Amino acid sequence: MGDLEHPFQSFLNALYLKYKPLTDGALASYIPELAKVDPDCFSICVVTVDGRIFEVGDADQLFTIQSISKVFVYGMALAEHGRDKVLAKVGVEPTGDPFNSLIRLDESSKRPDNPMVNAGAIATTSLIKGTGATERLNRMLDMFRHYIGRDVYIDMSVFMSERSTGHRNRAMAHLMRHFGMIDEKIDEALDLYFQQCSLMVNCRDLAVMAATLANKGVNPMTGDRAIPSHYIRDVLSVMYTCGMYNFAGEWAYKVGIPAKSGVSGGIIAVVPNQVGIAVFSPPLDAHGSSVRGLKVCEDLAREFELHMFDLP
Ligand code: GLU
Repeated sequence: MGDLEHPFQSFLNALYLKYKPLTDGALASYIPELAKVDPDCFSICVVTVDGRIFEVGDADQLFTIQSISKVFVYGMALAEHGRDKVLAKVGVEPTGDPFNSLIRLDESSKRPDNPMVNAGAIATTSLIKGTGATERLNRMLDMFRHYIGRDVYIDMSVFMSERSTGHRNRAMAHLMRHFGMIDEKIDEALDLYFQQCSLMVNCRDLAVMAATLANKGVNPMTGDRAIPSHYIRDVLSVMYTCGMYNFAGEWAYKVGIPAKSGVSGGIIAVVPNQVGIAVFSPPLDAHGSSVRGLKVCEDLAREFELHMFDLP
């Protein structure tokens, strides 16, 4: 796997040792199954656009993708419907509110602010085409397969756990139905949303997915196209402005790389034309992002001057 002699690999090894003792943060517990994971899991993986892999920690450890899925489903909706139709249903405005907030789903806004918060993600998922629940799920799994480069599956216990406890997401979907932002198949859209969040990935998969975005939509390991290159800029723009929950502004300022985190403890970051980065460590900070993941990305960005506005 990682080229052990490479200076970049040595830097990742050092980062791993530096942050392994950091035990701050708490597991997400509002989805009961997520509270059962081992908080010590920690892995970092970087994949270059020419297909080199650098990794440290247990990059094979599987976990559910959670909110990181929103990035890829947004890309899929764009590819299926084009910009105008998607924009009519989901905005691109950062909120500064928590990811599961209902506050701005009101009479004046109606349209969810962006596809990276839950409301916007549910509306995005509701756009995925298919003649029924099974076809929509299969098409979505197929899309993930192109990004990951292997067969993919859903973790049933996390899916069921989310499905039976996701009252807040259900409330958002009903409100959006009321405002005409999603169609009448509310339960089908919610199930598909809970399924996309329950997709099993490991840290290496996430880095390959991020590298696919960095590589204009072509998976650098398989040569497969996962998304038309035309929509990469849309996806990276919302990741940059909205991807890191209500920490997105500070992230853009400090780290300056399009990124997305999820409540299972994963973070992906995309350096266009260069690398995809992924970190997995389940304990989260108050915003819902991996504590070790944030530190690792900050250090990587500083060391390799990856901030988008680090001008040469
Ligand atoms: N499935 C989670 C939810 O809907 C995703 C949240 C996240 O990762 O931010 O609440």
